[in-house]
Amino acid sequence: MATSGSTADIKGISTDIDLLRALCGAPAPTGFEAPAQEVLRRRLEGKAQAQADPLGNLWAEVPGEGAPHVVVTAHNDQIGLIVTYVDEHGFVFFDVVGGVDNQLLPGRHLVIHGPKGPVDAVVGRKPTHIIPKDERGKAPELHDQFMDIGASSREEALERIRVGDPVTFEAPFLALSGGRYGSPAFDNRAGVYVAFRALEHYRAQPAAAKLTALATVHEETTFMGAKAMARRLDADVIVVVDVDFASEDPSVDPKKLGGEVKLGCGPVIHRGAGGNLAITDYAIQLAADEGIPVQVKAMPGATQTDAEELMSSGRAATLSFSIPVRYMHSPLEVMQPDDAEAGALLAAALTRRLAKDWTPELFVPRA
Ligand SMILES: [Zn+2]
Repeated sequence: MATSGSTADIKGISTDIDLLRALCGAPAPTGFEAPAQEVLRRRLEGKAQAQADPLGNLWAEVPGEGAPHVVVTAHNDQIGLIVTYVDEHGFVFFDVVGGVDNQLLPGRHLVIHGPKGPVDAVVGRKPTHIIPKDERGKAPELHDQFMDIGASSREEALERIRVGDPVTFEAPFLALSGGRYGSPAFDNRAGVYVAFRALEHYRAQPAAAKLTALATVHEETTFMGAKAMARRLDADVIVVVDVDFASEDPSVDPKKLGGEVKLGCGPVIHRGAGGNLAITDYAIQLAADEGIPVQVKAMPGATQTDAEELMSSGRAATLSFSIPVRYMHSPLEVMQPDDAEAGALLAAALTRRLAKDWTPELFVPRA
């Protein structure tokens, strides 16, 4: 279903750029996910009931009269920083939330989400002229870096920010060439887009299976959202959607990355030691039958996503696929949103196909 601002770069796919832009514009590092969950609440209004738990997980469903219950899930937190200390001159110190590279911070524009609203901040950097030779080309240790909000004293700074406030990269949504975009939050708003667009596609053309779209929290630090939901969910099949490293830019090598992954070639289905082979091959065949582009990547072990936590409930067959992203965990990740739309079509088609094929033994491994 096309909306304003749609692109159609992969043949026959209409991507809702407005939804992805809205998700990426919500500053929501781990533990502070509410603004991103609010985007989903607004999107669901009048269409499906949003449900939530005290941790911040949010989900909605298209009920079905039969089986199975399919859950499509993605984490809605992003990496960020947190204010730890304000010195007597008003300079603001911080720690990382999730995997932030401290090399990427000096000289950067950050935004502190204070009690009265966003506060612009600059990460201070010594002029290159006076950096000793042996320190050149290296970022200072994280705890030696600081933000400057323009305040002259601790008191002045604390009028606008508090210890424990979240900090994010400035969040432009850059339209690049070739239907590609830049944002700091594609990990994992790309996945959240897949889950909630899948719900919309399935609602438009439902079958007997029940589909739940879930946006989890705390993935970048403790996987706590998925841990909590693994206990609560009564799923038969779980589809975990996250982002994966694209292998095509000059800084990476597909051999060292564990396989070739390209933007614009569809979601990346993980096949191997970290998952359930039966559902993986079922999904690959389904994609071929439906004409949905997918890529396959070997998974030699854990996916480093919510998948392991959700699998550990022991009740659901779990499929893991990811959306290709360049420069993951940097202030500007690059992706092709059509890949996410293809993922949404795949998850909706999987649920419809399972409504026909489902038996509790379908994905029990057999030789
Ligand atoms: Zn991440």
